[in-house]
Amino acid sequence: MTATEGNTAMASTYSGACFCGAVQFEVTGEPMLQGFCHCNDCRGWSGGPVTSYALWQSGDVRITGGADKVVSFSKSGQAERRHCSECGGALMTAIPAAGMTDVYPHLLTGFSFQPQAHVWYGVRVVEMNDGLPKFRDMPEEAGGSGEMVG
Ligand SMILES: [Zn+2]
Ligand SMILES: [Zn+2]
Repeated sequence: MTATEGNTAMASTYSGACFCGAVQFEVTGEPMLQGFCHCNDCRGWSGGPVTSYALWQSGDVRITGGADKVVSFSKSGQAERRHCSECGGALMTAIPAAGMTDVYPHLLTGFSFQPQAHVWYGVRVVEMNDGLPKFRDMPEEAGGSGEMVG
């Protein structure tokens, strides 16, 4: 636990690292949203059929080591996908317009992932019958249609 200016002393801090360990980062507090994303962009970038996300306020996310190894790539101009230049491992995706950063929850030691929903389920390539809400694209408050699937 680290006391950080702007956060209460009670806030948890979780730390993580890339695949090779050259890049370290930490987040403070709990994510505003978390779940699974089935979109084409996440699939193309990760190589996996589905990705997990956990969105923090960007101000609560810090690179604590190896910042010179962090490479940022933006295909859409909206999301900046960051990886390690040494190992290619995914780190996080910043969404500057929303002031939020998706730090891949399974890279964070001790963080308990509690998915709330599936987004972009309309273009899924795998079924996940876990009883969670499934948005065709995104919730209305995130700029999507808000339509549910299944
Ligand atoms: Zn690495
Ligand atoms: Zn996605």
